[in-house]
Amino acid sequence: MSVSLQVQSGVSLKAFNTFGVDVRAQLFAEAHGDDDVRQALAYGAEHDLPVLVIGGGSNLLLTEDVQALVLRMASRGIRILKEDCGQGLVEAEAGEPWHPFVQSCLELGFSGLENLSLIPGTVGAAPMQNIGAYGVEIKDVFHSLTALDRQTGELREFSLEDCQFGYRDSIFKQQAHRWLILRVRFALSRSASLHLEYGPVRQRLDAMGIKQPTPVDVSRAICAIRREKLPDPAVLGNAGSFFKNPLVTAELSDAIKLRYPGLVGYPQADGQVKLAAGWLIEQAGWKGFREGDAGVHALQALVLVNHGQATGLELLSLARRIQADIAERFGVTLEMEPNLY
Ligand code: FAD
Ligand code: NAP
Repeated sequence: MSVSLQVQSGVSLKAFNTFGVDVRAQLFAEAHGDDDVRQALAYGAEHDLPVLVIGGGSNLLLTEDVQALVLRMASRGIRILKEDCGQGLVEAEAGEPWHPFVQSCLELGFSGLENLSLIPGTVGAAPMQNIGAYGVEIKDVFHSLTALDRQTGELREFSLEDCQFGYRDSIFKQQAHRWLILRVRFALSRSASLHLEYGPVRQRLDAMGIKQPTPVDVSRAICAIRREKLPDPAVLGNAGSFFKNPLVTAELSDAIKLRYPGLVGYPQADGQVKLAAGWLIEQAGWKGFREGDAGVHALQALVLVNHGQATGLELLSLARRIQADIAERFGVTLEMEPNLY
């Protein structure tokens, strides 16, 4: 193992988290491959410092300077490992940016990831919360991944079943900091089976005059919807949905509906109802709220935003006020989605 890791001290993380929160990392390095990852973990152990692995920083809320070696995954590489009867096995390194990876798969003629277009972040972080949008989650096209066990230093292969994917959840989220994901493999197809029945996807395609959409058309439609509704982190700091959509009992959902007939909820197979957290927050009057530079997006109440100089603690304090208000008004507990450090 040749020594190539460049470790810097006192690095601002403002450019490395999409909230744009200005905290410092005690140490910072980028991993361009497995050797760098191993060197960083050894460096951390030698200096008695934890190692915090990040990708694009689009699902983080940093509340103070990070007393750790922050390791940004920057490994690159996309390859078709196997193709048989129109079914492809495509592998990508953890540091590959997610949306360009989706575009590359579409350019290679593979469908399956189009509904997950324009999600920020990296391939390596995508399994962490089983990223999902417009009716598709990565578990639907996931094949396997390779991760490093930070406890033993050994490599481990994870099958779909091993990952224990759930709604914005996985074994990697449950066992935080144990597994470092190095590369992920997806089972994609050359014959498209499109998912258009979710939210405004079909209407958007109709408006685009497309009757028989291709996967590329679906990707374009989803990009257009997202660009209209979601703030671009390059312009307005945010980490996407700040709260998960809560799953509640049918009784609680019915009780809320009596008072708020417009309640947006989706019955689940297990009898629970998934409520649209954004709707609850909007009803409670938070949409567009701003205090200092911490605020709630004016077009989507589920997204907290940094108008410029908000600190992580200010954003966290706003999130806690919203949680308390929603609990009091609706009896519903909102769980935060971003990872807090
Ligand atoms: P980071 O924020 O860098 O890290 C997230 C977590 O993963 C951290 O705990 C980190 O320690 C860990 N981690 C990162 N890389 C690795 C690795 N290689 N191995 C092990 N652990 C790792 N999410 C959705 O699910 N659906 C959406 O539609 C969606 N839309 C979004 C829209 C916007 C505008 C924004 C800002 C965010 C959105 N998100 C969405 C959230 C976010 O983009 C995803 O969760 C994304 O997968 C995070 O990737 P990242 O590389 O930025 O991870
Ligand atoms: P939306 O279309 O306004 O819908 C509001 C919520 O209702 C969504 O969160 C979605 O839940 C749910 N929903 C809508 N149609 C549904 C259906 N047919 N069946 C079941 N549930 C349905 O949501 P949005 O904020 O614009 O986001 C659109 C999609 O992108 C959603 O899938 C959302 O999860 C995803 N997204 C995620 C993030 C993030 O950071 N996690 C950020 C932006 C967008 P689900 O969230 O469970 O899909």
